[in-house]
Amino acid sequence: KYYEEMTKRKKLFNEVQEAKGNIRVFCRCRPLNKVEMSAGCTTVVDFDAAKDGCLGILTTGSSAKKTFRFDRVYTPKDDQVDVFADASSMVISVLDGYNVCIFAYGQTGTGKTFTMEGIEQNRGVNYRTLEHLFRVSKERSETFSYDIAVSVLEVYNEQIRDLLATGPASKRLEIKQSSEGYHHVPGVVEAKVDNICDVWNVLQTGSNARAVGSNNVNEHSSRSHCMLCIMVKTKNLMNGECTKSKLWLVDLAGSERLAKTDVQGERLKEAQNINRSLSALGDVISSLAAKSSHIPYRNSKLTHLLQDSLGGDSKTLMFVQISPSDQDVGETLSSLNFATRVRGVELGPVKKQIDTSELQKTKALLDKARSECRSKD
Ligand code: ADP
Ligand code: MG
Repeated sequence: KYYEEMTKRKKLFNEVQEAKGNIRVFCRCRPLNKVEMSAGCTTVVDFDAAKDGCLGILTTGSSAKKTFRFDRVYTPKDDQVDVFADASSMVISVLDGYNVCIFAYGQTGTGKTFTMEGIEQNRGVNYRTLEHLFRVSKERSETFSYDIAVSVLEVYNEQIRDLLATGPASKRLEIKQSSEGYHHVPGVVEAKVDNICDVWNVLQTGSNARAVGSNNVNEHSSRSHCMLCIMVKTKNLMNGECTKSKLWLVDLAGSERLAKTDVQGERLKEAQNINRSLSALGDVISSLAAKSSHIPYRNSKLTHLLQDSLGGDSKTLMFVQISPSDQDVGETLSSLNFATRVRGVELGPVKKQIDTSELQKTKALLDKARSECRSKD
């Protein structure tokens, strides 16, 4: 009887995933900046149908307009609160035991760091996420207890750096797989955070460490991936069950292609590594969508680190960040095409209405069955 019920639920769970898809793409366009305005740049983005998730790009000649469709489109007028409001349900699913990955993709200067980190007076997704996690975990404190810890890593030239490490750089950090199948980096600092003040300190430490050893912080950060990992241990106080899940928040390296003539030596190596990791990310997502038997996670440190949070029943949210300026139209189109490739796959043309409470129940049952299987092994 139990197994019949499980099979039924598993089928339902798969159907729900299929219908909903677990990849979302939000497009965000920054405002035209002062320099662009004084240089007489014009806006090539048309937001007439932004409410429906559509945007148009005016390419050469005013008649040629390319349109794109995403799950959300934010105009330069939309603020951090609007953006987080849409991302928050995805974020919260880490408290329900899902692995989640949120990343910002785009050309340098399009607002990746603005979206993820934000500025002190107007914080971004990272801070708001932790704030929200603390709020919701408090609300649920009668039934669940949560332990939250964070790590901050940087991946530069295919090398992992621990931005929370104090003292001299430890030996080369490598990705390992635990006996339970989790991917982790032994030796990396996992700072336990109990409240938002702790978080603020940790995020500051991380950002300060990013600057160390580079003479131009902005340039360096545009060529490395900054990865915040939030690890959640959940204990169900009713039945004593424990689960582990994690949420990655990633500010990717700039996606722009450097002009061949400009790139030599160290810069060439950086450019190749960025290229390689961003294409690896695209390849992983499209092989997941194609349900390939082999998913090439190991092609870059970035995808290898994110492995638990890309695919399976994990959830992915991509922010594709763009510039409104006519001068950037080539890069804008290339980012939008990348994002279309990411999104195109798992989302069907019609979204079915789904019952999320049913999904929760199913997920809980599946987890139970899994842990029973494990304990039998
Ligand atoms: P990236 O990280 O992609 O290189 P940044 O986040 O550093 O880009 O953004 C470049 C500049 O544009 C920053 O000064 C940032 O504050 C500003 N900016 C980006 N997005 C927005 C936005 N939506 N609204 C206002 N200013 C923005
Ligand atoms: Mg940045």
